[in-house]
Amino acid sequence: LVVLGIETSCDDTAAAVVRSNGEILSQVVSSQADLLAQYGGVAPKMAEEAHAKVIDKVVQDALDKAKIAETDLSAVAVTIGPGLSLCLRVGVQKARNLAGRFTKPIVGVHHMEAHALVARLVKQELEFPFLVLLISGGHNLLILARDLGQYVQLGTAIDDAIGEAYDKTAKWLGLDMRRSGGPAIEELAREGDPESVKFSTPMKQHKDCNFSYAGLKTQVRLAIESKKINVEIPLSFSSVEDRCSRADIAASFQRVAVLHLEERCERAIDWAMNIEPSIKHLVVSGGVASNQYVRARLDEVVKRKSLQLVCPPPSLCTDNGVMVAWTGIEHFRMGRFDPPPPADEPEDVVYDLRPRWPLGEEYDKGRSEAR
Ligand code: ATP
Ligand code: FE
Repeated sequence: LVVLGIETSCDDTAAAVVRSNGEILSQVVSSQADLLAQYGGVAPKMAEEAHAKVIDKVVQDALDKAKIAETDLSAVAVTIGPGLSLCLRVGVQKARNLAGRFTKPIVGVHHMEAHALVARLVKQELEFPFLVLLISGGHNLLILARDLGQYVQLGTAIDDAIGEAYDKTAKWLGLDMRRSGGPAIEELAREGDPESVKFSTPMKQHKDCNFSYAGLKTQVRLAIESKKINVEIPLSFSSVEDRCSRADIAASFQRVAVLHLEERCERAIDWAMNIEPSIKHLVVSGGVASNQYVRARLDEVVKRKSLQLVCPPPSLCTDNGVMVAWTGIEHFRMGRFDPPPPADEPEDVVYDLRPRWPLGEEYDKGRSEAR
């Protein structure tokens, strides 16, 4: 099988061509980072226009680089949710036009499932069931993947996700936002003392697997204000003291943000082992999983529990087309796909878009134990 994957759910326009043996034939990403830096966030209408401007070229580049003609494709996979509908629509329209013209089946893909399943492309011997931690800009999920399409949600963010906290911390510290905030914090944190600012770990008293980063964000903002750092001055021109204070806050924030992940993962492993005693792996994916400190800390957790960590390379952790193509392959070979759309589908047709789309059912620990 050879599948084209298209991803436009948020701020990256991505496409890739992947074979069912896991071979990545091409991978193209066009990022809106410059736009984001200029306007300080994603405005749906602007993001939609940015996707629309580059989608044809991104898809064509992916096909050219893979040296694959449309007629050679087995199917077209596209993210249909969760995400911004205006943005999702651009990808879905492109996918359906192409699939209609060349009579190819379509696979509608769940963006978070794709973040999780790409681990099976990276590590072919990764079998269900396994535990997954998904950490990105909009999501913080602990999922027990029991089988393809069969997921149990052990925990989720009750407010902000960790990526959002990284991005805001970077913004408030006046770091270079031409790329996302995460990498900037990770880099600066290496210079700082992680014990210098005493932030408190979120949700200590809640013995569950949910996450909360809104409180930590507030603690960080107050710390920046109280240190009277001049965040208007770019980091490379700031005084030695200012630079140290900024690095200390970055390091202290990162320590506690990740400690929260460690505590939740440890508990989730216990829960998951109760449901599926045969699990052997913790998969960590989503943009924040490209962080080296996060990987190292979570590796310690899984070792203590005698599991193995599976973490895709950074380019497959952040939004990409490969994960969509791969998830398309997984579903396609189980016979889960839609027939080719009509070649002359009208532009105003209503697509199946799922801006809010939970991945699997929520786990109710109390009820399960009472059974
Ligand atoms: P979602 O998947 O929830 O819809 P998204 O698609 O915007 O969100 P991804 O591309 O998966 O997100 O991840 C982007 C997030 O990952 C951003 O918040 C970014 O700051 C964060 N991130 C990227 N690299 C790093 C890093 N090295 N350290 C920490 N965070 C990082
Ligand atoms: Fe994502």
